[in-house]
Amino acid sequence: MARKPSENVAPLAGAAAGRASDTRAAGDLSPVGKPTEAAYQTSLRPGTFDDYVGQPDLIANLRVFVAAAKKRGEALDHVLFAGPPGLGKTTLAHVIANELGVNLHVTSGPAIDHKGVLASLLTSLGEGDVLFIDEIHRLNPVVEENLYPAMEDFRFDLFIGDGPHAKSVSMHLPRFTLLGATTRLGLLTSPLHSRFQVHNQLQFYSVDDLTKIVLRSAGILELPIDRPGAREIARRSRGTPRIANRLLRRVRDFADVEGDGSVTETLAAGALDRLQVDRAGLDVLDRAYLMTLVDRFDGGPTGIEALAASLSEDKGTLEEVVEPFLLQEGFIARTKGGRVAQPRAFSHLRVAPPAGKPRKGKKTDDQGELF
Ligand code: ADP
Repeated sequence: MARKPSENVAPLAGAAAGRASDTRAAGDLSPVGKPTEAAYQTSLRPGTFDDYVGQPDLIANLRVFVAAAKKRGEALDHVLFAGPPGLGKTTLAHVIANELGVNLHVTSGPAIDHKGVLASLLTSLGEGDVLFIDEIHRLNPVVEENLYPAMEDFRFDLFIGDGPHAKSVSMHLPRFTLLGATTRLGLLTSPLHSRFQVHNQLQFYSVDDLTKIVLRSAGILELPIDRPGAREIARRSRGTPRIANRLLRRVRDFADVEGDGSVTETLAAGALDRLQVDRAGLDVLDRAYLMTLVDRFDGGPTGIEALAASLSEDKGTLEEVVEPFLLQEGFIARTKGGRVAQPRAFSHLRVAPPAGKPRKGKKTDDQGELF
């Protein structure tokens, strides 16, 4: 089964298209000849377990499962990864295929928009290959039902002809590994969830781990950076490697144009302030969310729909991208009645918490922890 790893990228469509470019080769160029953000992120992607920083428990387990599959000469069991965007789910798919020495085929739930696309994907797989489906909670129901026999029995049922003359033909598939990734575990159907033998929840990264990632990325980019500079970027990266790499790229611009080309703590802090990323790592949307909850809704509880309407933002974006970090950092809590601002939200925004409800928060002179 040990073939030279290669990567086949299936076409992606619709809302997934933005993520699709994540899988392009490191040298990809935009129409004006500048490397794209996606190509940049790809170039920084670790390729082995040893290069993968953080998530120690998950990596320790995956090392065992991969080694066991290789020892037995079998395909790895199907693995599900859940967690907010940018935490390294796609990266893990690359690492696993690489460590197994098999081909990786990359696609996403919305891109498999009918059964025929699934059929052509599955029939292009080789023995032991890894199929990575990003945003797997967005598979259409017919496609999902056809995935079940493929996952369980490595079989795909095709109907040939129409009406009373239709015939069902069962095709045997090679034993493959499905790696599913989702940012919304709650939206995954239970039949699909239960067909994965290994379930993993990715966690936000510690500042120490993100510092290692920033130093590693700066090394690849040949960008001079000291440890306090890397730590400053790490501290403001919302626990997320993709954000750390993106901020590093922006800070590098400031270092090149306004500094001597190297990144120090002072330079990084100044650049990130100007990018409106505050000392807790919150960006403009995070602060708008908190300010709406604190000021307009008196700290809550309030429903996500009302928050989304007030911010003119998509509810899914708030639930998927904004809230997980605010929850983990203790800025907000989720209760039966809705979202509630926590004391840290008031102090961060320098707004006095309401003494008794209902009451609007008042501005204070306290500098809080903002910048
Ligand atoms: P997801 O699929 O969860 O949205 P990705 O796997 O695309 O996230 O990761 C985003 C970027 O962050 C990658 O391009 C990679 O450079 C970086 N990255 C993610 N996880 C790690 C890690 N553990 N160590 C180093 N870099 C990482």
